[in-house]
Amino acid sequence: MSDMIPVRTQEQYVRDVAEIMAIRARGAAPKALVHTYGCQQNVADSEKIKGLLEQMGFSFTEKEEEADLILFNTCAVREHAEDRVFGNVGALKNVKRRHPSLIIALCGCMTEQEHIAEKLRVSFPFVNLVFGTHVIHKLPELLFSTLTDGHRVFARGDDSEDRRIVEGLPVHRDGDIRAWLTVMYGCNNFCSYCIVPYVRGRERSRAPEAILSEFKGLVAAGYRDITLLGQNVNSYGKTLENPVSFAALLRMLDEVPGDYRIRFMTSHPKDATRELIDTIAGGTHISHHLHLPFQSGSDRVLREMNRGYTSAQYLALVDYAKRKIPDLSLTSDVIVGFPGETYPEFQDTVSLIRQVEFTSLFTFLYSPRVGTRAAKMPDPVPAEEKSKWFRELCAAQEEIAARRCAAMVGTVQRVLVEECREKTGLLTGRTDGNVIVDFHGNPDSVGAFADIKITSARNWILAGEQITK
Ligand code: SF4
Repeated sequence: MSDMIPVRTQEQYVRDVAEIMAIRARGAAPKALVHTYGCQQNVADSEKIKGLLEQMGFSFTEKEEEADLILFNTCAVREHAEDRVFGNVGALKNVKRRHPSLIIALCGCMTEQEHIAEKLRVSFPFVNLVFGTHVIHKLPELLFSTLTDGHRVFARGDDSEDRRIVEGLPVHRDGDIRAWLTVMYGCNNFCSYCIVPYVRGRERSRAPEAILSEFKGLVAAGYRDITLLGQNVNSYGKTLENPVSFAALLRMLDEVPGDYRIRFMTSHPKDATRELIDTIAGGTHISHHLHLPFQSGSDRVLREMNRGYTSAQYLALVDYAKRKIPDLSLTSDVIVGFPGETYPEFQDTVSLIRQVEFTSLFTFLYSPRVGTRAAKMPDPVPAEEKSKWFRELCAAQEEIAARRCAAMVGTVQRVLVEECREKTGLLTGRTDGNVIVDFHGNPDSVGAFADIKITSARNWILAGEQITK
């Protein structure tokens, strides 16, 4: 007789977890609280996690006391975000004391780092399950082990997982107007400050057919604003057997008939091509919005960051884009206080934002990440001084954003209506350039596009009146 243990399938794990959880929840549907930290990629991952949980019979709650499973999908981009996660996990100890069968799970970028996994192992013994970004698809198996093996489960991807893309996972989408669609995973760039290539692995692109099929499904389901996601979408397709450029993928998706917008993020300036700009300019559904992180206006700092472009190259690309797409809305990410940055170098950043006139900026104070090259660089500028620079940059950007918004007063903008606020009855939506507009109008317009006459501007938020019902 063979003593081989039969391999369980994903379906069996799903079924078994559903049965065990139903018993633990005494016949009621078990409830999960999934909290997401960080970027849109994490939001998209959480939607897959929720899809898998739903398959296993879970419904969702926002209340810790009601939950049978609490899962934090974490972010590793800044130290502050990690500290917040540790604080919030620590607070769960009391919830678990009151509800001993509660399962506490952590996943995401933080947990892919060995020193974090170790800290969770040693200092947070009440955490049951820790898993990395590469093994999300194995959640049913990991939960099954957590529930049956009687010990804590720690799982991170190995080299083979690093190269895999698992298609066909169920997705529980949080909204029904805007959707996230991942086109690629990982990053090959190794910017010297960034932890992403270490925690999300090398670039892997989904097959264009798989993306097209998911995209068509979203359009057919009525999603109006679809954002294509990747750490560096402009590298899309380079590693496919039959390479496809990101611009070509955009053109393919843009041909799908329907009333919707396509956005994408993030674009790395060194890989953003004129072909991409021309594609946006010639598209039917592609938003005239480009998120193009420049990070610093100083060439020396850009070199130290390993960004692969100069400020002049960045400005030349922006200049081309503005000529081709006059109503283009540009947004960006900036790091203030990179190790060794001087005040004159910081001023180069301020000067660049004044030249480009971004619609909005995501500004970050540099945060050292263990394992990155920048974390070992001398960093002589005190934190208070960096904070002063940070405030200076924000003030400059506020002035630019207010001016740009004021220039839109009197224009008519096509706005995707996202919500009717209960308290005020005001509707809110986004322009093609991703600027928020509050307006009086028809609540039945939620989920549709409407033409809004812009009547006033408050810093970076617009106010208006609906002129199409
Ligand atoms: S391009 Fe640079 S900043 Fe962006 S994810 Fe890759 S390494 Fe990080």
